[in-house]
Amino acid sequence: MKLNLFSIGLLFSTLLFAQDYKLCGTDEMVQKALEAEPELLNNRELLKQQADSILANDVFRKTEDEIHVIPVVVHVMHTGENTNISDAQIHDAIRIINEDYNKMNSDTSDVIDEFQNIAANIGVEFKLARLDTAGKCTKGITRTYTQLTNIAGENVKELIKWNPRMYLNIWVVSDIESGVGGYSYYPGSAPNNDANAGVVVLASQFGSIGASDGNNFSSRTLTHEIGHYLGLPHTWGDTNDNDLEENCDTDDYIEDTPNTIGSATGYCHLTQNTCESLDNVQNYMDYSSCAIMYTKGQKDKMRTALETGYIWSKAARNNLPTNENLMLTGVHEDYVAPDCLATIDFKSESSVTCPTQEVKWENLSWNYDTAISYEWTFIGGTPSTSTEENPVVTYSEAGLHDVSLAITTTGGTNSKTIENAIYVQNQSELLTAPNTISFGSNEFPSNPNQSANWYVEEYFEGETWHWNTLGSTTSDGSIRIQSYDFIEHGIRKAYTPVFDLSNVPAPCYMYYDYAYARKDHESADELKVKISSDCGNTWTDRLTKDTDDLTTVSTIYALEFNPTDALWEEQKINLNTWIGDPQVRALFEFSGSNGTYLYIDNIRFGVPNLSIDELTASNIHLEVFPNPNNGNAVIQFNVLNTHKIELKLVNVLGKEICSMSNNYKAGQHQIDLKTLNPDLKPGLYFLNCTIGNYRETKQVIVY
Ligand SMILES: [Zn+2]
Repeated sequence: MKLNLFSIGLLFSTLLFAQDYKLCGTDEMVQKALEAEPELLNNRELLKQQADSILANDVFRKTEDEIHVIPVVVHVMHTGENTNISDAQIHDAIRIINEDYNKMNSDTSDVIDEFQNIAANIGVEFKLARLDTAGKCTKGITRTYTQLTNIAGENVKELIKWNPRMYLNIWVVSDIESGVGGYSYYPGSAPNNDANAGVVVLASQFGSIGASDGNNFSSRTLTHEIGHYLGLPHTWGDTNDNDLEENCDTDDYIEDTPNTIGSATGYCHLTQNTCESLDNVQNYMDYSSCAIMYTKGQKDKMRTALETGYIWSKAARNNLPTNENLMLTGVHEDYVAPDCLATIDFKSESSVTCPTQEVKWENLSWNYDTAISYEWTFIGGTPSTSTEENPVVTYSEAGLHDVSLAITTTGGTNSKTIENAIYVQNQSELLTAPNTISFGSNEFPSNPNQSANWYVEEYFEGETWHWNTLGSTTSDGSIRIQSYDFIEHGIRKAYTPVFDLSNVPAPCYMYYDYAYARKDHESADELKVKISSDCGNTWTDRLTKDTDDLTTVSTIYALEFNPTDALWEEQKINLNTWIGDPQVRALFEFSGSNGTYLYIDNIRFGVPNLSIDELTASNIHLEVFPNPNNGNAVIQFNVLNTHKIELKLVNVLGKEICSMSNNYKAGQHQIDLKTLNPDLKPGLYFLNCTIGNYRETKQVIVY
């Protein structure tokens, strides 16, 4: 009975803390790397042997009070706003690891008496790099906009990684794909022949302020992961499974850490005794909530790691603290670091607006401490220049406008211009709904007919939405985009023309056709559709589809994806909320990585719920032009869904001259009168168009 209650207690504790603590993924990641690259096992073994022989050498003991300095670079992988964590949070995280690795943490006095004599000062100092790999001024922080931060792992290292022989790379991310809170690799065991060494950690478990959860477990996650990076296993052995009875049979191969099964996650039982001796639950390499110390044995292990490394080792830790490397990375005490040139970045709240509407511009520049001046230039804006950090501007003229920002620091002046940074909409240029966009010509995004203009943001480097002829449901063209060619992984935005929904009856929908396939198993894309009726000031989410939802064919297209008719699907979005609004536009937002093309075509805006009974003259738009004509004319019509359509030409006596009947897909269609009859004699005719129960007649005069 007693045992049962204990088990229930354990169950409760697991449930209670599961949400608060995301654990360490190091051992799983190391295991994965070793399976993929078996030669890493040899690397790791050689480094271990080297470490053992260093440890046995008297010289090692003589240098144990020397402080080893490690240059650090923090790569912030973000999607803007609060995921783009502050410099202050990064400095706070560095402060914590420096306190912990120099036994200067204020809670060191809380180490219980039994472990006070082995609680060690590691003597390792971490300094944010002041020179980057190209020898340029840096604050030791990089910022990369990428959706991969939500499914992070080794993938983010492909976007940015500094020489791991020179820097400890730390990637701060929003979410790790495997669900852990952080992970790193033991010396010699990282993928890519150890070049991927470093720490990946959640922003919520990084430092103690800003986006951090702020509890002890989260604030010390980086301390723990750097322990692995410098060769330490968990206190119970090199698995990720704490709190298991069999852990008494495994060891961390460090003499002074007591044998233990490990704490239950997030607990702190200072008297815990799991393998016939008092556990060191306060150890940073445990999963307790009260980790505040390393032992002397762990100190030896980590310091030998910093003296270990072969010439072939891509991330040899022994190069990090050398004088030469400290000079090259700008963290040597003899190097006086200046303030850097700012890396310029800025955005407005929305990239589309209307005349007289206020636009707030936000400075997002980084890599500097203090700005001496901000100099903004707003072509077509009022004011046209500003020295404020975050100015507010209005535009009187419709069209596309460039924006520039120059920032001067003691490191110099840097500037950036974003062309077509804002689109000011002419409120009188709009399309009357219902209406169809079939992308029949390459007039995308700009169109000689102003009211048919799209706006495609070109904020990020690399591919964006563009017109093509390789897939279409209605005409010769469509628009498409693929994430595989993204240089910067940001959201690609395409804004439709503005539609007048004043006179559309309920129910009212937007329909479009789309086709999408995976490029490989790594494909991770997302499409969002949003609607605005206030000049782009606010947007309402109407659709979100990820790779699985978007796929219209299960086949993987590793090369080109040019969809045949059968590979298209139709999407329907309810617009009832906006019935009566004179200015409504949609926004297609695409983001992702490793995907092939998403095609979009045949956008029908403000149409009723599509069924054959609802076909009306106002949505079929049957036209013949020119009319009168000499026999050369075009018959044009829209259909809202795939329909069988019969066209019949009769003369004034009601006699049928010619007819044709075909299936037509949704969208606008044009048929030459000559295909109906190549040899019409002058006279008056009636064109009968029949779609299901609907029938419409137009006069045609041939001269
Ligand atoms: Zn761990």
